[in-house]
Amino acid sequence: MTDRDGPHPRPQTIAAAHGVATDPAFGAVAPPLYMSSTYEFAGYEQPRTYDYGRAGNPTRDLLAAALAKLEGGAGAVITSSGMSALDLLVGRLRPDDLVLAPHDCYGGTMRLLKARAARGHVSVRFVDQSDEAAFAAALEEVPALILIETPSNPLMRVVDIAALCARAREVGALVAVDNTFLSPAIQQPIRLGADYVVHSTTKYLNGHSDVIGGAVIAADAVQAGELRDWGNVVGSTGAPFDSWLTLRGLRTLFARMEHQQANAMAVARYLERHAAVSKVHYSGLAAHPGHAIALRQQRGFGAMLSFELAGGVAAVRQFIEAVKYFTLAESLGGVESLVAHPATMTHADMGEEARAAAGISDSLLRLSVGLEAEQDLIAGLEEGLAACGSE
Ligand code: PLP
Repeated sequence: MTDRDGPHPRPQTIAAAHGVATDPAFGAVAPPLYMSSTYEFAGYEQPRTYDYGRAGNPTRDLLAAALAKLEGGAGAVITSSGMSALDLLVGRLRPDDLVLAPHDCYGGTMRLLKARAARGHVSVRFVDQSDEAAFAAALEEVPALILIETPSNPLMRVVDIAALCARAREVGALVAVDNTFLSPAIQQPIRLGADYVVHSTTKYLNGHSDVIGGAVIAADAVQAGELRDWGNVVGSTGAPFDSWLTLRGLRTLFARMEHQQANAMAVARYLERHAAVSKVHYSGLAAHPGHAIALRQQRGFGAMLSFELAGGVAAVRQFIEAVKYFTLAESLGGVESLVAHPATMTHADMGEEARAAAGISDSLLRLSVGLEAEQDLIAGLEEGLAACGSE
């Protein structure tokens, strides 16, 4: 903080201006990029603040401090990917520790948890966290860590973070919320009782589809310190240049989210009315089962949505070949609009049985709605939908 900062800046101010005048050497307005892998000791047995880049880096620490502030946490660790952020938490557990994860979590998260369990590193149980009875039964097994993803990927199911955290506390379980889909601009799980927030910074926090990165934010300073040490032990800390790019993206986070979620709402409303679409999953729609919870715990509904085509898999192919302005690609959260087919792309590794159990059908398409003109996006979708059922 500098003398130009007030005592309690709002999140928008932190995101836009974090890093301003944090360069004590030259007063650089943009955060400086320190690429050095190592640092000179002041003398024999006299390390300075930084000694080695795996353990600590000034640019990475600026990003960690900004994310901790935005999420309302005590500290953060910046990692090389969203997966390594999740593994920072999971990899520290012991073989008899149980992880309770959503049955419809991101496919890569499921793959990681299953791979860790298959090697005997942890125990894992997948459960429908919106099913109160199933969640209560799973709690009886006393999990060490509960992982929550809300809205979930790709079905946008919303669960009540505060309620699940309260239940978790009763059995002494820690809760980590993957906040990738909304970002702290829209949802702050630590304020709702979570112990950790996990991000794939690859998505909205960086926002420009040019970085793979991750972060874990801890509510508690001791846990933040332990995670930071663990990041150094396993060497999964993020690269300085990636942190610098993510700091650059972060400055426009609030403006991007606002515009992108307005576009997403327009797209959801358009799809909801279209005859070729059998279902739209977006928590901003009044018909969405999680709408009331979303209104309570989110400041908006985000820019991710999914929908099902009435014409099944044949229509999926026709849509993808005809749609304009939505690029067929994995990932999400960038300024450009993307379309993905979870069954053959992001969630292919999950296997047919797990996909069916989670409700991910072959006719489901996921959209990451970007910053393009709303009219173009709708016109582009219209072309895709008009092709469904042709031939
Ligand atoms: N969490 C969620 C919700 C995701 O969607 C993803 C990737 O798509 C990840 C974690 C993993 O992030 P990364 O690809 O940066 O490793």
